[in-house]
Amino acid sequence: MAFVLLVSFGSIATTAAAEVVPVVRKCHADAQASESWTQVVGQQGRWRCDGKAWMLSADVVLIRFDLPDSSDRLLPQSLTTHTGNFERIDVGVIDRQGGAIWSSHWPGDIRHLPAGPYMTIPVPGVTADTAQIAVQVVRPWGKTTLSEMRLDPFTEGSGWPLQLIVAMAATCGMLLVPLLINTAFYSVLPERYVIWHLVMVSAMLVQAAFATGFAHLLIPLEMEWEWQASNLAFSSMAGAALLFAIHFIEQGCLDPRVRKVAAGLAPLMWIVGTISSIPVEAVRPWSSAAMHLSVAATIIMLVLLMGNARRNGSRAVRFLILGWTPLMAVGTWRILGYVVPTIQPTEAILPYQLSLAFEVLVTALGIVSRFMEVRQERDEATARALELEGMADRDPLTGLRNRRTIETHFEELFRRGFRTMAVIDLDHFKVVNDTHGHATGDMVLCAVALALADDRDTHAIRMGGEEFLLLLRGHDAAARAERCRRAITTRITSEVPGLERMVTASMGLVEHDLRGNLQIDFVSLYARCDQLLYEAKRLGRNRTMREKVTGFHPAAALSEVA
Ligand code: GH3
Ligand code: MG
Ligand code: MG
Repeated sequence: MAFVLLVSFGSIATTAAAEVVPVVRKCHADAQASESWTQVVGQQGRWRCDGKAWMLSADVVLIRFDLPDSSDRLLPQSLTTHTGNFERIDVGVIDRQGGAIWSSHWPGDIRHLPAGPYMTIPVPGVTADTAQIAVQVVRPWGKTTLSEMRLDPFTEGSGWPLQLIVAMAATCGMLLVPLLINTAFYSVLPERYVIWHLVMVSAMLVQAAFATGFAHLLIPLEMEWEWQASNLAFSSMAGAALLFAIHFIEQGCLDPRVRKVAAGLAPLMWIVGTISSIPVEAVRPWSSAAMHLSVAATIIMLVLLMGNARRNGSRAVRFLILGWTPLMAVGTWRILGYVVPTIQPTEAILPYQLSLAFEVLVTALGIVSRFMEVRQERDEATARALELEGMADRDPLTGLRNRRTIETHFEELFRRGFRTMAVIDLDHFKVVNDTHGHATGDMVLCAVALALADDRDTHAIRMGGEEFLLLLRGHDAAARAERCRRAITTRITSEVPGLERMVTASMGLVEHDLRGNLQIDFVSLYARCDQLLYEAKRLGRNRTMREKVTGFHPAAALSEVA
């Protein structure tokens, strides 16, 4: 399966190539800096013509294009190849008599194409008499500069066909989407993996700008800079991918040792990227190898990491497995092309770009899903906390709210219009306990709670013992409180049959009108209600003493409802 995938990537990769002048053979040979073209060209044994086994260890790589000798053939006008650093490229136009015209080119005067990761060198003076195009690449840094070299029928070189440019531009555009999503999400989900995803996608975008050549539409870049920036973007991508993975996978679903190794490997990526970009000859033969090896290490690490997380039941890792499999397959194909001499080195740019966009979209979806999960967890936690709080705030016998709740929320409720307070106390409750027992007393208290049930405009609280408090709002608050007081007796009678005497209640009530800016605190209002209640008891019980306070007339109107 993986093999089929790799082979199909390989074939898609070749379709990304642009205009090519057909040649009889493209052969290459390694040479020392001291050797000349004429010395090497005659040594048949040193040439390979199968497009394989490209080496960077030699000083110079010679490439020979043998042209067909039919008269109606297409004449090459330029030499186009994959971008990459080098010291110098010499191009020779060799005729059938062995005469040669040579020209030399340095990185600074090479033209980059904005459509495709290509650079191009004009090859003037090609005629029907030209037999070969000879190329000497002095100190190349990458294999694809050699393996993808082709003769182009246009002087300016040719990049990708229009459809491919559009497809590539679209994939670059797709990389922008997660950038926006991430930035938006970070404000509500300040998790480290969102940051690493942002770094990863930004690095991918920079890298894609070079890999597609589109960077040249924006800024003219020297070869040396381009290659360094591209290397650094590539290592940032690998490093950030590792850090993203270890933070994105749920804590506890990753073996701490795996996490540690992956976290240690990430900075190594940046180190390799930086070292392999140092422009000195000692680094050159190893630069590309080191980059490929570091990517190989990242892929192996990611596979281990995803396997480990999957075994430990991670849900998040499913997104990584889905998103990264195609990208890792392309990466493996590129690495194999680099290290296995019998596979032609390729950037596999189209499949690479497509799998990059796919990866980024899938992981962005993973972040969205993670966000939903986090939100759900948070909602559940809030609900649980509220539930606990609710339990702590309730009186276990009657289920009514307790004194603590009303003390905490009084100010807010008062502001919201709950301006009538009534304190209710059962009359001679001690007698009920003494006559019928404590259990019956409890039943009586529960019956009171039923008579005082909460509604939108009424809060009922058990203050302790057989004393209750009502906090009410609305123009008929006092009348409703009075109805509640009376309902206590009927409710007790129906809920607790067999009582010797009717149980009544007394009430002290204070109401405030809505005018004026009243500053009332719980303690003093409660104390006032208590005084009124005491009055009611003193006057014979089973009655209400009420008082009305208006914002403009502090003098209260006292009245008795018997
Ligand atoms: P008054 O009309 O003056 O209010 O007389 P009272 O008997 O109702 O008041 P007193 O304060 O003398 O007695 C209150 C009794 O309520 C005493 C206590 O045993 C009883 N009580 C307090 N809490 C509970 C409870 O949770 N369950 C039961 N069954 N009785 C309780
Ligand atoms: Mg009492
Ligand atoms: Mg009492």
